[in-house]
Amino acid sequence: MDLNRRGAELDAADPLASYRSLFAGSESELVYLDGNSLGRPLRAASQQLADFVSQAWGSRLIRAWDEEWMELPFTVGDRLGEVALGAAAGQTVVADSTSVMLYKLLRAAVDHQQRLDPARTEIVADHANFPTDRYLVEGIAAERGLSIRWLTPDPELTVEELAEALGPQTAAVLLSHITYQSGQIADVAAITAATHDAGALVLWDLCHSAGAVPIALDTWQVDLAVGCTYKYLNAGPGAPAFGYVAKRHQDALTQPLQGWMGHAEPFVMGPGYRPAAGMRRFLTGTPPILAMQPLISFVELLGEVGIDAVRAKGIALTEFAIEVHDAVLAPLGVELGSSRDSAVRGNHVLLRHSRMREVTAALWERDVIPDFREPDGLRIGLSPLSTSFAEVARGLGVVAELVG
Ligand SMILES: *Cc1c(COP(=O)(O)O)cnc(C)c1O
Repeated sequence: MDLNRRGAELDAADPLASYRSLFAGSESELVYLDGNSLGRPLRAASQQLADFVSQAWGSRLIRAWDEEWMELPFTVGDRLGEVALGAAAGQTVVADSTSVMLYKLLRAAVDHQQRLDPARTEIVADHANFPTDRYLVEGIAAERGLSIRWLTPDPELTVEELAEALGPQTAAVLLSHITYQSGQIADVAAITAATHDAGALVLWDLCHSAGAVPIALDTWQVDLAVGCTYKYLNAGPGAPAFGYVAKRHQDALTQPLQGWMGHAEPFVMGPGYRPAAGMRRFLTGTPPILAMQPLISFVELLGEVGIDAVRAKGIALTEFAIEVHDAVLAPLGVELGSSRDSAVRGNHVLLRHSRMREVTAALWERDVIPDFREPDGLRIGLSPLSTSFAEVARGLGVVAELVG
């Protein structure tokens, strides 16, 4: 297989190929296969940040809080909800980190469930979930005297497997839409329905799906969701998370980090906490306005391209990576750690080999940047708008040299 020729052919036929040039660094020879950990910046971000400093921050100063910033966590959240999450307005907030937002929403859910029925003492979670999710569940369980029922999906969590774990003891379920290792996509609608049948609430972590695959939170009847904006939403290191709370739950849920920005009347500064109506109650302190700026422009770009077109390219990229795996890497002993079915595969592909740890280190030295995931996985993250097929071909060509 002539890798580079095949990559160039696929680029020539790619309707989204021209978007790559909007990203800083895309002109260099560096092969970036880690957009699922930290997306590339839009070139426009530097001017946008400079304008923000001189205009909104530099000249409007404190007045900008009244003029725009108090509402920004919700206006940006609504637009993100519309473009990427399938969430109607008034249900998405942008603030905190994913870890903090996850803590707030999961605690709010289990506290609510316990108030309704003290016998709901169990949180169901997934062993294969990202570490922060697992650690937070452990912390919440310890704090509230609850127990955890761990599931170990292999590789996919089936509805039946989950239904077996649910019962009158279940308070809440925490799962990832797309697993961070293999890239497996969960059946959110079916699992959410099974959770509801057991009287429990579900919180979905969308870190590896937001901006990459279509999401329909309202249609799927999801209760709660959180996700990162610095992965497939390219908003930059430490950009704030988003949190979604279905309208039907908002007035009943109160989150534990009762700060002044979630108060019904923050500027009265009175005694005692009273949660605001709607999504504002899920804020804690001053929201990260500066760090939201790159998200604003990326979400507009995503709206222009459309998530379905992004998904189609994501599938084409992962299919190409699998094609290269089969033709070039499998004969060298590399095993595919992701599904061959694009319907249940997100935008990254796991390539397994006993030497992948050393191979990853050598790749970084040669300006090919994927991720390593324990114990033996090379994770190839393919960010649809910024990754070219030629880039995948070059990168996997170097993987073949190093493994072979
Ligand atoms: C990346 C990721 C996180 C990161 O959380 P932070 O608080 O932003 O560090 C959490 N959960 C999952 C599933 C992730 O993939």
